[in-house]
Amino acid sequence: MYDVLIIGAGIVGCAIARELSKNELNIAVVEKGYDVSCGSTKANSGIVHAGYDAHEGTLKAKLNVRGCEMYEGLCKELDVPYKNNGSLVVAFNEEEQKEVEVLYKRGITNGVPNLKIIEKNEILSMEPNIKDNVICALYAPTAGIVSPFEMAIALGENACENGVEFIFNCEVSNIYKDKDKFMVETNRGIFEANYVVNAAGINSDKISKMLSGRIFSMIPTRGEYCLFDKIIGDLVEKTIFPTPTEKGKGILVSPTVHGNIFIGPNAIYQEDREDTSTYIEGINEILYGAQKNVNGIDMRYVITSFAGIRSKTNVGDFIIDIPQRGAVNAAGIESPGLTSAPAIAEMVVSLLCDQGLVLRKKKYFKANRSNTKKFIEMNDEEKKKALEQNPLYGRIICRCEHITEGDIVNAIRRPLGAISVDGVKKRVRAGMGRCQGGFCMPRVMEILERELNIDRKNINKDGPGSYILTGRTK
Ligand SMILES: Cc1cc2nc3c(=O)[nH]c(=O)nc-3n(C[C@H](O)[C@H](O)[C@H](O)COP(=O)(O)OP(=O)(O)OC[C@H]3O[C@@H](n4cnc5c(N)ncnc54)[C@H](O)[C@@H]3O)c2cc1C
Repeated sequence: MYDVLIIGAGIVGCAIARELSKNELNIAVVEKGYDVSCGSTKANSGIVHAGYDAHEGTLKAKLNVRGCEMYEGLCKELDVPYKNNGSLVVAFNEEEQKEVEVLYKRGITNGVPNLKIIEKNEILSMEPNIKDNVICALYAPTAGIVSPFEMAIALGENACENGVEFIFNCEVSNIYKDKDKFMVETNRGIFEANYVVNAAGINSDKISKMLSGRIFSMIPTRGEYCLFDKIIGDLVEKTIFPTPTEKGKGILVSPTVHGNIFIGPNAIYQEDREDTSTYIEGINEILYGAQKNVNGIDMRYVITSFAGIRSKTNVGDFIIDIPQRGAVNAAGIESPGLTSAPAIAEMVVSLLCDQGLVLRKKKYFKANRSNTKKFIEMNDEEKKKALEQNPLYGRIICRCEHITEGDIVNAIRRPLGAISVDGVKKRVRAGMGRCQGGFCMPRVMEILERELNIDRKNINKDGPGSYILTGRTK
């Protein structure tokens, strides 16, 4: 019997779990995937938005600004790479200039600090690769960039270190009440809980319905991206947005916290809630969109493409409410959900308390994660010590990202450790480089086989069934 059961281990579910884990509670997170961050959280722009985009008075606006304010401190606490690089919304004609002014006013109303509109010369001195027919831009110095899946993993890991139980491969199919208790039916049996939180992303409409909550429609919207080699990693320093359209914030050009450049996303409605394929039409669309604003976007440097699915709904705002006594919806969390997640967590906890959840602060809450440093990030002294203690740090496995066997073993043995090739990739970046795992994947599999004591044939790329090998040839 759990005090609180959270459905979904995306950034929102993990942020809520971590926030609740500061208290003496028995908490579980049930997740249908095999790892933390299997939904929208694994494939998005990774922008910590300043908060000028969401309409005044919405939950999106309020939680975005608060979330942005919280991010840097939280990333420091959890040792997650974060960069406060700022963002520019660029205008190339009069109509776009008017839009920049609208965004500026909205941002001020939303409470975004230090916003300003800057002119051509200042823009080009900040970002020389922006097209020189630019007229003006909205400059938001509080915006930042983060690695979204690393952030979710960090929140999840830290929640786990503080006693939260994570149950993977566990899909919720029905919820009903037995007296005051929630009975949560899954493919792994029935779980009992006093309180339930719906953080199920793209399926949050279905869970809301199971909780007799608000009925809304999901409009799954794919966004495609291209990631570029670090060779052109200094093309822009800030995140460069076009002016938004009714389809969204538009195709951006941004650095990543790890020194790549990426472009995207577009916005394509699709029936399928899970299909994250990329298509040539989409790639051409984002390429055209990025090249309109920034010089030097050269497809020869693309190292991979990927897509994410937005949990967009017909409501137009986050749905954070009480579907029935004892439950809370954190549903339809589309952009800026990554930015807002820490603030959503605060709000969800407060809604749980309104319904009777009693919080008793833990005497010892472990706010920092332990042993997160990769070999490449260590100074000479630390490297020497690490090598003496563990010679596996002496074997480079991923040549592009300089990831050692010691780092990979650490990723597997950590709380909520990696159990798949992509799990290792998301935690320590083996396979994220320009060869995209061409060199290191067999070696990562060899380490997974040894550490998890499973046959190499049964190692998945990502989720269940995504086998890489079909059998032995010799
Ligand atoms: C293309 C794109 C770009 C974006 N860019 C940004 C950005 O730059 N900045 C920003 O702030 N936000 C951005 N977002 C939004 C952000 O990614 C999401 O708001 C955020 O990831 C939502 O997190 P979540 O935890 O609600 O959902 P998810 O990450 O989808 O997690 C939900 C989890 O619930 C699980 N689940 C679903 N159904 C069940 C079930 N029945 N039982 C058990 N588990 C279940 C899923 O497997 C999943 O792991 C973007 C989104 C997309 C798609």
